[in-house]
Amino acid sequence: MRGAAFLDRDGVINAEVHYLHEPEKTILLPGVAAAIREIHLHGYLVIVVTNQAGVAKGYYGESDIHAVHRRLRELLAAEGAAVDAFYFCPHHPDHTGPCCCRKPAPGMLLRAMADYNIDPALSFMVGDRLSDIGAGRAAGCRASYLVTTGYGARTVAEEDVSGVRVVPDLAAAVRDFFG
Ligand SMILES: [Mg+2]
Ligand SMILES: [Zn+2]
Repeated sequence: MRGAAFLDRDGVINAEVHYLHEPEKTILLPGVAAAIREIHLHGYLVIVVTNQAGVAKGYYGESDIHAVHRRLRELLAAEGAAVDAFYFCPHHPDHTGPCCCRKPAPGMLLRAMADYNIDPALSFMVGDRLSDIGAGRAAGCRASYLVTTGYGARTVAEEDVSGVRVVPDLAAAVRDFFG
């Protein structure tokens, strides 16, 4: 079994844009490509897990999500980095009813664990919202990090983050986990 880094997308990998669905607005955060290369050097998988309720709300379609992910792959490839798999939840409870994949539910992580033979006890989650931390914990990850990029600074200012490992960005989470 292998370890994985489960990464939230918006605000962790790329700059937070409200309901991002346009490839041309997809911008990598500084240091992300190097951090992803570092994860792979440790033999870990890089799995993106992202809530995309904009689909349930009718703001954009699943094809837009795939277009953003293609752009992310291009941007990362230009810096020698890659994502092993993208998982997204297109649901929202008010529009499509309850689901088991919208974070903080662990469904996307559990599916990836089954698909890639991932051991949660070796793995970690990185996100900018408490729902990311909740998903990491519910999936049994060894560690879950809250970054202060994206919505993270607001999360730290406005919510109870006691007991949560707060780090500046993805690179810091990766350094802490493997350090
Ligand atoms: Mg996010
Ligand atoms: Zn879902």
